[in-house]
Amino acid sequence: MKNFIILIFMLAIVEMTMAGVLSGKLIVLDPGHGGMDNGAVGPTGLKEKTINLELALDLYEILKAQGANVILTRKNDETMYLSDRIAIANEKHADLFVCIHHNSVENAPEIDRTQVYYWSATDTSKNAAIDILSSLENFFGMKGNLLRTDFKVLKLAKVPAVLAEMSFISSPKREKWLRDPFNIWREALALDDGILKYFDQRGI
Ligand SMILES: [Zn+2]
Repeated sequence: MKNFIILIFMLAIVEMTMAGVLSGKLIVLDPGHGGMDNGAVGPTGLKEKTINLELALDLYEILKAQGANVILTRKNDETMYLSDRIAIANEKHADLFVCIHHNSVENAPEIDRTQVYYWSATDTSKNAAIDILSSLENFFGMKGNLLRTDFKVLKLAKVPAVLAEMSFISSPKREKWLRDPFNIWREALALDDGILKYFDQRGI
């Protein structure tokens, strides 16, 4: 069923995509954690590493259909160093590096919001973070946070780079929602909307 719905969406996406916005662009997607590193774990055991990868694989298909060149730092459940993840983007001179995560906080099941991080003050990372955050806020229908933080993976970036904490897997309501692959697909579409906005409106 999911595949059928996705096919319909894909046809619509290709139709709707602003002509040529992503053609020739290289986007590196980095699904956070993997292998030995589960990342956050939801109240009933949903692992962050699993949904980060699922989202990245969905977004990979969407961006490819829109004409972008896309590289995934991992395609499987494997352990990877942060430095190796960003090295891929640096070596290939990516136009944008996007780390995909889901957040978690202890003893606060009601907390659930979207947060987008950037570090570099000299490239367009901040613009990308602003555009992606605005699309995620629209999708979730709530205010999120734009944050400047020196995460290793962002600090080592020599290309525009952002890290999106899509939503909070520690919220029982959100964890249940994230168990539906269709909702992961919808998160991927929201992220895609921000990426398109960035390349279109910033003239990059
Ligand atoms: Zn994470």
